[in-house]
Amino acid sequence: MSKMINEIFNFDSTADDCVKCGKCIPVCTIHQVNPDEVTSPRGFLDLLGAYKRGNLELDKNAKDIFESCFLCTNCVDVCPKSIPTDMVIEQVRSDIADKFGIAWYKRAFFLLLRHRWLNDIAFKLGWSFQTCGFKIKADINSMTSRFNLPMLKTNRLLPSLAKTSFLNAHKENIDNGGTRRVAIFIGCLANYNFKEIGDSLLEILEVLEIDAFLAKSQKCCSAPAYFTGDFDTVDSNAKFNIAYFESFSRDVEAILVPEATCSAMLKMDYEHYFHDQPDWRARAKVIMDKVHMATEWLHNHTELESILRTKEQDTKVVTYHDPCHARKVQGVHTEPRNLVRQNYKIVEMSDPNVCCGFGGVTMQSEKYHFAEAAGIPKAAMIKKTGADIVSAECSACRMQINNSMHGAGVRTVFKNPIELIAEALKK
Ligand code: SF4
Ligand code: SF4
Repeated sequence: MSKMINEIFNFDSTADDCVKCGKCIPVCTIHQVNPDEVTSPRGFLDLLGAYKRGNLELDKNAKDIFESCFLCTNCVDVCPKSIPTDMVIEQVRSDIADKFGIAWYKRAFFLLLRHRWLNDIAFKLGWSFQTCGFKIKADINSMTSRFNLPMLKTNRLLPSLAKTSFLNAHKENIDNGGTRRVAIFIGCLANYNFKEIGDSLLEILEVLEIDAFLAKSQKCCSAPAYFTGDFDTVDSNAKFNIAYFESFSRDVEAILVPEATCSAMLKMDYEHYFHDQPDWRARAKVIMDKVHMATEWLHNHTELESILRTKEQDTKVVTYHDPCHARKVQGVHTEPRNLVRQNYKIVEMSDPNVCCGFGGVTMQSEKYHFAEAAGIPKAAMIKKTGADIVSAECSACRMQINNSMHGAGVRTVFKNPIELIAEALKK
């Protein structure tokens, strides 16, 4: 990214940088499922420039177009001018939210994300009653609706809820008798749905004799709100998390996040969001240097790889999916593979870097037909490998890929690499 952050959000100047080479078109996730010039990176940029110059009204049609981007960053990866199309679309979504408001169910969801105590109550109630409305598939921590509702069809697989959240199931300080100490930022899906990820991370830290601080007051990183244009929630949660991280950062070596989207939000998007609040931007930059994806830190800063080498080989075959927020945004892709391949055979799918098609809250609700279509090629790639397990360090990818595989009748099981590593350490 050659431009300063403030300049990037001048939509007309960023749009003018586009040389219309079209290199981004073949890799654009929305263009693949909706092949129209307006839903392509250069189409989005053209419209943003016109909007900034006052030649385009932000009407329902424009809203519909700007909300169809998956924010996958595929375009940024191949663009010769490194134009951050995803960042400018995230920004215009705030204008869209200001003009049209945010749907009631999204506001209710974001309200939960602002208050952990409220979230804890809602998820506890959800766990108590989930069997009334859903059929549970315990082996993959998922469920399907018993009834057809407007956005909840019976053939759609969703993550089920854990009885007790990860943060409520453990002590805040875990003494593994070591001289090193790390904090854990767990993320909402791993806290309430895929609790085994955090449990596995604690098991790994115990073997490594690294003490853990669970940072129980952490709030949602606010990525779902950021991608939807609810900047009030981002402002509130980001400021809280920055101040909270500052309060314990001197006592820990690193803040580990076993989730690509949360890690990218904390490490990169807080800085983007605070582009017009310099004090907070500077604080975000300093504190977020301590944030690392869990596999990246464990691989680069501990003896984990050599310990795994002493363990048995597992007969299960693994294929690895690269979450957009891990490989393209944070450059993390060799580290999880290097750790996993010590005990499992890895068979690469034809393109592990292709977006799974999750796309955020709007894509998973109003525009679910796009998410569904974008998930089909990924499920087919996984099936072709014949792997027993598909792995990725991202629970949003897990939710989307599990649903895509369910729709395509693919029996491969999804596991976070942290779970695979913890299982290998037990052998
Ligand atoms: S972020 Fe992804 S979906 Fe959006 S324009 Fe870029 S490639 Fe297309
Ligand atoms: S790759 Fe970059 S410069 Fe080329 S058309 Fe796409 S956004 Fe424009």
